[in-house]
Amino acid sequence: MANLVTALQGVVAAHPNKAAYVFGEDTVSYGQFYGQVEAMAATLEQKGIGQGDHVALVLGNSPAFLISYFAVLARGGVVIPINPTYTPDEMAYILLDGDVKAIVALSPLVAQAEAALTNLPQLRLVISVPYADVPALKRDGDIEFLPFSEAFATTKAEVVEVDEGEVAVILYTSGTTGKPKGALLTHLNLFSNAHSIGEYLEITPEDKALAALPMFHVFCLTVIVNAPLLRGATIVILPKFSPQDVFDLVPKHRVSIFAGVPTMYNFLLQTAMKVPAYASALKHVRVFVSGGASLPVQLLESFEQKFECKILEGYGLSEASPVTCFNPLHGERKAGSIGPSIVHVENKVVDELGEEVGVDEVGELIVRGPNVMKGYYKLPEETSMTLRDGWLYTGDLAKRDKDGYFYIVDRKKDMVIVGGYNVYPREVEEVLYQHPGIVEAAVIGVPDAEQGEAVKAFIVTRDEQVTLDEIRAFAATKLAKYKQPTHIEIIEELPRNTTGKILRTVLKSEQFQR
Ligand code: AMP
Repeated sequence: MANLVTALQGVVAAHPNKAAYVFGEDTVSYGQFYGQVEAMAATLEQKGIGQGDHVALVLGNSPAFLISYFAVLARGGVVIPINPTYTPDEMAYILLDGDVKAIVALSPLVAQAEAALTNLPQLRLVISVPYADVPALKRDGDIEFLPFSEAFATTKAEVVEVDEGEVAVILYTSGTTGKPKGALLTHLNLFSNAHSIGEYLEITPEDKALAALPMFHVFCLTVIVNAPLLRGATIVILPKFSPQDVFDLVPKHRVSIFAGVPTMYNFLLQTAMKVPAYASALKHVRVFVSGGASLPVQLLESFEQKFECKILEGYGLSEASPVTCFNPLHGERKAGSIGPSIVHVENKVVDELGEEVGVDEVGELIVRGPNVMKGYYKLPEETSMTLRDGWLYTGDLAKRDKDGYFYIVDRKKDMVIVGGYNVYPREVEEVLYQHPGIVEAAVIGVPDAEQGEAVKAFIVTRDEQVTLDEIRAFAATKLAKYKQPTHIEIIEELPRNTTGKILRTVLKSEQFQR
């Protein structure tokens, strides 16, 4: 049965002494890890948390995340991972909408979210990491507080074997626009995607995967947590991404699998340009995976040249657990492409009527497969708009080449229309990245009295030498007139969310439209 916990039990039985995860100086075997999971599951059982109960994890990358995640699943519960850098309001929205019965959270966050927690009608248990000293929240004793260290009972938990069609995780999508929606991912959804990725990347127990992406995001959860754990590999936990830590940890632990978003690749490259010795620090990595946002071809090429490696770009979204396309480990890797469909998953490019378009024509990417979510939590209308005739409408514009490789053109809603012509910000950004003085670029549409919209580029430059005239002249040699940015602004840093997506809503806000 496609259940994440039973799959983990199989690995534990086969390799009890193999390292499941490494955190700081601690190495924890599969046998020990499963013992931690069972002990925490026993506590959850004692506290009345069982099948179908929602448990929020507001944690950074840590053993606490891995243990709590599997302990909740072992009880047949539903995990709601939440970004711990969210503001109390953002967190409160998800906690309330997600009907959570228990929370495992970093202690300072529990204190910060005090007001929100008192408004949660179903909340019964708060396990805080590492301590639990939040007396203001004792609310007539109907919420129990435990420090994480006391959340391990000595009894054995009853592992609840839920059906593969039951929800395992509710993922609130990153919400670069609008209110976040909870994508309902079943055991089958997550298992099938982890299984495909494990096969695709040929993960073995000898592999070590670096958790540099946040575990609360589905990219890390599937590619770096579920897939390696289900194949007996080791997770090297990095609490928070920094280039320095990556360059230290990768050689130290001989990390063989690295997954990152394009910004991480950019940071690693920029750092290695300043410290030549770092160029050989990543030599043990046999697979570099990029996803979450488009990887500019220029960045891919510079990174590969510097580190003498190959990056495989894939594509996914929370609603598809997440991966739908991936460049192959063997066979042709195409720069700028997200690769062909992964096994068992179908991708199709369609027009406004849902009809498949021809090779190299742009349309909306739709996806079908065992990885596609059940729907959005408590949002039947949004669900029926997104899931139509068994297909997931991604909202991304894409095209497919004659070899079946897909290319993301842009988000449907980010397209800029200049005097009736479509401009895809990504195409303009790709050109800007080719300029040696530009480190990062983001393009949006701004209102224009004559053309309806005009192209505006925000750029981060390498030094002060670069002039706007020079960039305009450069763009003019590479882009048709209507695609050229008529407004260019140099800024210090692009606004991004924690998973590297450019926050275009922030760029379009008043703060940036001075
Ligand atoms: P999330 O649900 O937070 O994982 O965000 C999913 C979205 O990220 C997709 O709908 C795409 O817009 C974007 N995305 C993911 N991977 C890629 C990629 N390789 N190229 C371009 N956009 C991507």
